[in-house]
Amino acid sequence: MDLIALAVPFFLLALLLELAIDRFRQTGYYRSNDAINSLSAGILSESTGYFSKLLQYAIWGIVLSKFALFDWQLSWFDTSLQGVLLWILAAVLWDFCYYWNHRLGHEISILWAAHAVHHQSEEYNLTTALRQTSSSFLFSWIFYVPLFLIGFPADVLITVAAANLIYQFWVHTQFVNRLGVLDRILVTPSNHRVHHAQNQRYIDKNYGGIFILWDRLFGTFVEESDDDPVIFGVRKPLANWNPFWANFQVYNYLLFDARKTHRWQDKLGIWFRRTGWRPADVATKFPKTGVDLDEFRKFDPPLSRTRRRYVMAQFLVTIVASLAIADMFATQGGQFVLVPCLLLWTNLYTLGLLNEGRPYAARFELLRLLLVIPIGFYAMNNVLIVINPLIAGILTAYVLGSTLWLTMVPDSE
Ligand SMILES: [Zn+2]
Ligand SMILES: [Zn+2]
Repeated sequence: MDLIALAVPFFLLALLLELAIDRFRQTGYYRSNDAINSLSAGILSESTGYFSKLLQYAIWGIVLSKFALFDWQLSWFDTSLQGVLLWILAAVLWDFCYYWNHRLGHEISILWAAHAVHHQSEEYNLTTALRQTSSSFLFSWIFYVPLFLIGFPADVLITVAAANLIYQFWVHTQFVNRLGVLDRILVTPSNHRVHHAQNQRYIDKNYGGIFILWDRLFGTFVEESDDDPVIFGVRKPLANWNPFWANFQVYNYLLFDARKTHRWQDKLGIWFRRTGWRPADVATKFPKTGVDLDEFRKFDPPLSRTRRRYVMAQFLVTIVASLAIADMFATQGGQFVLVPCLLLWTNLYTLGLLNEGRPYAARFELLRLLLVIPIGFYAMNNVLIVINPLIAGILTAYVLGSTLWLTMVPDSE
C-alpha cells in the first residue's frame, strides 16, 4: 500500500483550504510564482525518483536479505501489544535516523547541496512541504541502512518512512501558532518555521521529523521568538524559477570553488567540509559578501496578469498530467513513463521561464506544445494499445487552445 499516493488528495485539499484562508484573510502567504516553483520541485522529485531510487531500494534489499542481524518477520507486526510496540519502535528509530540525515544534510556541504532545495522558498505554506530535492538518492538512503541491518521488514520501514514524510506536511503553515506542550515534544508549525528561517539565531536548528525531542537531546533546539520574526529562505537566494537549477545551484557553487582552488586536498575535501567552508585561496580571490537581512527582498519578477493566468492554467494541467503519470508508473512500471516524464520535465522548465517573464519563454512554450500530441499518442499506444478518440480529441483541443491563448491574447495587463 503506497501511503503517499493515498495522501496526495488530502495534500491537495489541505493546500486549497490554506490558499482560501490566505485569500480570505489577505495574509499574503501565497504567491503563484513561488507556489508553482515549489510544487514543480516536488513533481520533479517524485518523477525523477521513479528512476533514481531504484539503486537505494536494491541496496536496502541486499542488506536486509544478506546481512540482517535479526530475522524479524512481517507477521510479528500485527495488532497485538507486541506488534504495536514493534511498529512504534520502527517509527521512532526511523525518526532518529531522519534527525541525523537531516542534521548532516545541513552541516555537510555535499549533503546540503541536495537538501537546500527544500529551503529555497521565501514563502512558507503547504506548498513548501512538497518542495523536495531530486538528488537525495545520492546519499540520504545511507542513514537508514542500520534499520535494514537490524532486520526490520522492508514493508514496515517503507510504511514508517512514508508516515514520517506525511506527518511533516502539516507543519509547513503559518496559520497554526504555538501549541503549548506539543511544541516541546513534537515537530510543530512553530518549531519547523524556525527550521526554515535564515535569521542568525535560527540557523541550523530544529531538525526533527516527528519528534523535536532529538533536537532537545542533541542541543539543536531553539524556540520561535516574537522578537525575531522568521525570514524564510536561504542565505544565497535561488533568484529564479527553474526547478532544475534549484536542484543544481549549491552543487554549482561547490564545483566552482573546487575548480578554482589550487590544493587538490581542497578540491576533494570541500564536498565533505562544514557547509559554508571555502578554500582560503578561492575565498580571497572570489570573496562573497555577507547577507544583510534588513535589506532582504523576496524574488518576485513582475509578470502581466494574462501571462500569470496562462501559467496557472498550464500548471493545473501539469498537476493532472503528473498524477496520470504516477498512476501509469504504479500500474505499468518505469519503462512506460520515461517519455511522458521527458515532456513533463520540459513543461516544468518552460513554466519557470514564463514565470520569470523571459522574452524567449513563449517560443519555448510553443515548442513544448508541439511535442504534446506525438508524445500523448505514443503514451496512449503504449499503455492503452489503441488510440482512444476521446483522449486524442482532448489533447488536440488542449494544444490548439493553449497555442491560441499564448499567441493571440496580448501579453499585457
Ligand atoms: Zn532542512
Ligand atoms: Zn520543511
